[in-house]
Amino acid sequence: MLDLTDNKGRKDIKSMTLEEVTEEMAALGEKPFRAKQIYDWIHVKLAGSFDGMSSLSKELRQKLKDNYSLTCLSITEERISQVDGTRKYLFCLEDGNIIESVWMQYHHGNSVCISSQVGCRMGCRFCASTLDGLERNLRPSEMLDQIYRIQAHTGQRVSNVVVMGSGEPFDNYDNVIRFLRLISHEKGLNISQRNLTVSTCGIVPGILQFAQEGLAVTLALSLHAPNDEVRKTLMPIANRYKLKDVLEACHYYYEKTGRRLTFEYSLVQGVNDNLDEARALSRLIKDQHGHVNLIPVNPIKERDYVQSGRKAIADFKDLLEKNGINVTIRREMGRDIGGACGQLRKSYMEKGAE
Ligand code: SAH
Repeated sequence: MLDLTDNKGRKDIKSMTLEEVTEEMAALGEKPFRAKQIYDWIHVKLAGSFDGMSSLSKELRQKLKDNYSLTCLSITEERISQVDGTRKYLFCLEDGNIIESVWMQYHHGNSVCISSQVGCRMGCRFCASTLDGLERNLRPSEMLDQIYRIQAHTGQRVSNVVVMGSGEPFDNYDNVIRFLRLISHEKGLNISQRNLTVSTCGIVPGILQFAQEGLAVTLALSLHAPNDEVRKTLMPIANRYKLKDVLEACHYYYEKTGRRLTFEYSLVQGVNDNLDEARALSRLIKDQHGHVNLIPVNPIKERDYVQSGRKAIADFKDLLEKNGINVTIRREMGRDIGGACGQLRKSYMEKGAE
């Protein structure tokens, strides 16, 4: 269920749809065009406070302050890669929790990778986000504001969003769906749904429900193994859902939305990177409409997983290609500024605790 109140029990106006803001304003005795103005201040002009909404009367601004909260994240740390210009941000939420987001420049535009939860409870063995478990879900406004603050800070339009940071989107389903609708809303930042990607570890009921939302969003599945046996050693969720069922759900998603799938496969030396596994992977997904994104695993100090060697990665890729599978190797963006998924937050929290 969607809960649109912040940690102080105030209504979170940034998580509301335009229709909801309109109803709220009607209840306060305000005209519908005021709702439009407010929505525009929040989602287009990216106002950081009610006081900044200068086209509204002082009285109305006061009314808004009395009745609502305007979620606004503050930048705790920004790191800029000297290698490729990638920027990583640590944001502080109103309750003091820290989350991380990444801004990447590609030839097709600027992309932001956002977190969907504080921490994660999925327990994937190679992932830093899950080491301390789940702290809490993020509200739609807290997902939006990662993008809004980055766009305001860089002064450059964000054209792509990937929900691939900390957290499992389908473990926070309703908030993520609301976020996707708001970020692609024509009266908001209006980012095309085709430029949005949601990555899941493979929660079957979530995928099936997602297929029916009428969204044209790209679905990425974290596969990481060609069979249940290996997958279980890397991802506890594989004990819950069989690969066969996960892939059937993905196929259903493709049929319903027409969107080609992405299969993420993090290569871990000696665990999932031999050529038999590449062969099995080819067989597994040859009839799926999608491509494979190989990610050389980013080692985390809490685990002893090692990145596959250059040759093993190249051979794995070649074999998939020979078998007619579309495959890319993920460029490692911002290597010099804090690794993958949750590693920056984790190192910040450890420093803070010393
Ligand atoms: N919970 C979602 C999204 C978050 S993780 C999911 O599981 O898809 C985004 C991707 O990065 C996933 O494919 C995840 O398995 C991968 N990942 C996480 N930590 C990694 C690491 N240290 N090295 C390589 N890939 C990693």
